[in-house]
This record gives sequence, structure tokens and C-alpha cells, in this order.
Amino acid sequence: MSLSNAAEAPVRPVSEPFRLRRTFAIISHPDAGKTTLTERLLAAAGAIQSAGAVRGKAGQRSTRSDWMEMEQQRGISITSSVMTFDYDGLTLNLLDTPGHSDFSEDTYRTLTAVDAAIMVIDAAKGIEAQTLKLFEVCRLRDIPIITFINKVDREGHAPLELIDEIQDKLALDLTPVLWPIGQGVDFGGYIDLVEKRVLNPQGKIIAEFEQLEDLLDVEALVDNPVFMTALETLEMAQAMLPGFDLPTFHAGHLSPVLFGSALKGVSVAELLRTLGDWGPEPRPQPALPAPIAPSDKKVTGFVFKVQANMDANHRDRIAFVRLCSGKFERGMRLKNVRSGKDMAVSNPMFFFGNNRELAEEAVAGDIVGIPNHGTLSVGDTLTEGANVNVTGIPNFAPEIIRRVRLTDHMKSKQMAKALTDLSEEGVTQVFRRMVGADWIVGVVGQLQLEVLSARVAKEYGVPISFESIGFEVARWVESDDADELKRFIAAQKMNMAEDRNEAPVFLAQNAWWADRAKQDWPKIRFLTTKERH
Ligand code: GDP
Repeated sequence: MSLSNAAEAPVRPVSEPFRLRRTFAIISHPDAGKTTLTERLLAAAGAIQSAGAVRGKAGQRSTRSDWMEMEQQRGISITSSVMTFDYDGLTLNLLDTPGHSDFSEDTYRTLTAVDAAIMVIDAAKGIEAQTLKLFEVCRLRDIPIITFINKVDREGHAPLELIDEIQDKLALDLTPVLWPIGQGVDFGGYIDLVEKRVLNPQGKIIAEFEQLEDLLDVEALVDNPVFMTALETLEMAQAMLPGFDLPTFHAGHLSPVLFGSALKGVSVAELLRTLGDWGPEPRPQPALPAPIAPSDKKVTGFVFKVQANMDANHRDRIAFVRLCSGKFERGMRLKNVRSGKDMAVSNPMFFFGNNRELAEEAVAGDIVGIPNHGTLSVGDTLTEGANVNVTGIPNFAPEIIRRVRLTDHMKSKQMAKALTDLSEEGVTQVFRRMVGADWIVGVVGQLQLEVLSARVAKEYGVPISFESIGFEVARWVESDDADELKRFIAAQKMNMAEDRNEAPVFLAQNAWWADRAKQDWPKIRFLTTKERH
């Protein structure tokens, strides 16, 4: 499992190419170092020449600043992109998740398409609000997590304190893989417990060992009080913490922890190694009537994201599809289970940031972008086989509910199209009131409203504004008793709307009214999430 000696690289199973995929995301609180780490990982894998430059798979080069400019032109960095790159005989698919908390829905859906996550924690800050939120999302699906405690080159909390805090707040067991020797100005390298060696901050090997005690024979180390403290705390950590166990990690219950510095490139190679060697292969995808095994011969995949305006030169919409099984080939016909329609996938794309190239073949774990004009929506399942629906890609009950006001009434058709398109993209949810048929939008964060009005104006030429209609709560309603549901809808007509799939939604002025309705109508279920299909 050495990185420095190719001859020792693990023998990868090549009979089933999907087993060579590692599809993952990096989750963190803003400023913990996700962007810096992403660049370092890409540089360490040779996918970019140096941190700061992004090179497309097809050989085009663009600088990081171009990429950032594109993000800015789009208004704000709200959308996730995919970076596919090779490392040590593997294909790694890194799905970027937007950092802003208003876009947690988009992030949530992106996390449904990964098999593992790297959780970046700032050593000086510990667990922060957004880390916790994203972690909870990973936990819902038992996604295995590698913990990277960043910024050891700066003063921060002591390793044992950080481990305690993470175990406590996340109820997640940790096991050390890399242990820091000092922090901040004292930072003097790290102990690699897998390769059993001590390295300096530049990654040069200082000593090797069989047992940690062997290091007590290394004079240069025992004379160093910082090293001795590190060794002592490491021994305490080992006594306290479980050892590494692959099945427990894969089940999402144990997280290997590495200390490092994204900025200085410390521990980045080891992070890649951990992901490559221990990271899970594509996992079975929860679906109905049955989960989809990556080894299934028929191609199946699902849309976890739709994005317009990826590139000013390609004014199209890209549906990002995570493949769950089979061997996908360009030109293949796949059925959209929601609409029942077949489509020929003639221009599937692989992405690297904003660069793209034609995808001739892909397997489970891969992400392909399919250009389309509105036939594909978030949550859609595509298959070559029998009908199956991928589950676990919900809409969340919106927290902000607004009526859309159109200033130019000649443009109501364009507005309808804009809102429908953008709801298929997952930018907003749209509802029509049962009485009056007003267009209502529901979002989870204020920023989404701003992006929505900016895009409707810019891309569809329709100026819109929003006004409050006195509703703060939306709940999908269901019942096993169809007559009771009809009675409820009739009684609440003024408070009812339909979502884009014509599912009934109850709107309430506030939480108190929502609760009251729940008590008055015990046979009705009030749902905060609804599967998208
Ligand atoms: P993001 O918001 O999580 O993407 O964080 P960035 O990668 O943009 O980093 C936020 C800030 O932390 C930037 O100023 C980085 O230079 C800095 N930073 C990132 N990693 C490290 C590190 O390992 N050590 C130090 N000292 N600073 C870092």
C-alpha cells in the first residue's frame, strides 16, 4: 500500500471495472479548507499540474481564476460540479457540494450520489454548524466518512480534544491513521500508522517502525519533547479508540482520521491513499421494488442534479446521472421510468470542472452529464431494464413560501415555462393553489429566491417579484383513507395547493395551525419530505 513504490501498489480487480470507481464528496463548514484540499488532491493525483490550475481531461487548460469567474457570472457559487480523475489505477469521481447553507437541498441530493465522503474539520474550530448538518445527511445513508482535521500548521485544539468532540457531537467512532507531531509553530511532521513510519512536514521519511515502541530507539526523536508528547497522546488515543476495521468503516460506523494541512500539502497523499485503498466501491442503490446492485447487467442510473448554463458556449441543460449498474455506452436507449419514454443518449458527457468530453462508456459509480431540453428532472430513474425507482431523493418542505408576481401580464406563458424549468432543475419548488391557481414558489433559503428571480429575468426575459401570502408552513398530505383525504382537501380548499406532480400540499399560516390540523385530522399524514418521482 505504498505510494512511493509503484511495484507495491495493490493489485486492483479489473474483471469488473465498476470496482475501480471511488465516488465521493468533500463536506465541510465554509472556510475549513475544502477548496484548498480539493486543489491539493487533484494536484497530488496529477489531475492538475499545480494547485491553482485546472486541466481538462481532454487536454484543454483553464486556470482556476477562469473557473471562479464563471461561478461569479452565475451570480454565486451555488451549483455542484463533478471532477473525474485517475489515481493509482482507479477512477475517482469527486462531486463538489455547494457550501452555502441555503442550498442544503442541492447538497443533500448530491450526497445521494456518492459512496463516501471526506469530512474536513478546522483544527482550531472543531465541529461547526454546517459540518454537523452535512454529517447528518451522510448518516441517513450510512455513507462511510474519512475525517481530515485540517490546518495543523496553525494553533488549534489538541488532537485528543478534537477526537473527543467529534465522537461526542457526531456519535461516530474514530480511529487514527495519521497523527500529528505538534501543531502550529511546533508542527514537526506526522506518524503514519498504516505505512508505519514517521515523516517530516515535507513528507520525507525520518524513521520506520514495527511497533510504536521501536521509535524510542531513535535518538533524534526521543530527544524531541514535541515528538514525545505526540507519541504519548497517540498511545492514549490508541488505548481509547477502536482499531481500523474495513466493514465497520464501510457501514458508516467508524471513521479513519488524518491530521494534515491542505495549504501546505501535508497528509494529502495519505488521504488519497486512504480513499483509494479503503474507500468503498460503488454501493447498492436503494430503490423500489428492490435495491440495484452495481453488478446488475442492465444499465440503471438516476438524475441527482440538473444544471443550466454550465457554459456560455453550450446553452443547454445538463442532467447529472449517477450510474448504479450495468455498462453504459454512448448512443444507448434508456427509459425514463417517470415519463415512460425512451431516449437515445447520444451525447453523454464526462466533466472536469467546467470542461467536458464525450462519454463513450461508463459504469456504476460514474457520473455522466446528459444534455436535454427538459425531458429529465431531478429524481428521475433511467433504465435499460425493468421499471425500478431509485428512492431517497426527496423534496423538502419549503421554509419560505411566496406568491409570484408578474409585472408584465403578456408574459404569463414564459413565466410558467421558466418556473416549470427551474423547478425541474431543483432551483425551486412550484405549487399552484387549488383556488385561484396562483403560482407559488417554495424554497428553503432566501438566497434561492434571489437566484430564482435573477435567472427568470436573465434567461427568460420575465421580470418577477415575490409577495408573502401569509403561509409559513407547507406539508404534503396523504392518507390510507382516500375519502378522508378528499374531505380534508374540501374542508381546507383555501389552504390547499398542488405540487408539480399534482400531489396535494397543505399550507398553514404557522406551525401552530399546522399542528392544529394534525390534531383535528388524525387519519391524515402531514409530510415534510416527498420523494421526487
Ligand atoms: P472552503 O471555504 O472550505 O473552501 O475553504 P478554503 O479552501 O477557501 O480555505 C479557507 C481559508 O483557509 C483560506 O484562506 C485558506 O488559505 C486557508 N487554509 C486552508 N487550508 C489551510 C491549512 O491547512 N492551513 C492554514 N494555515 N490555512 C489553510
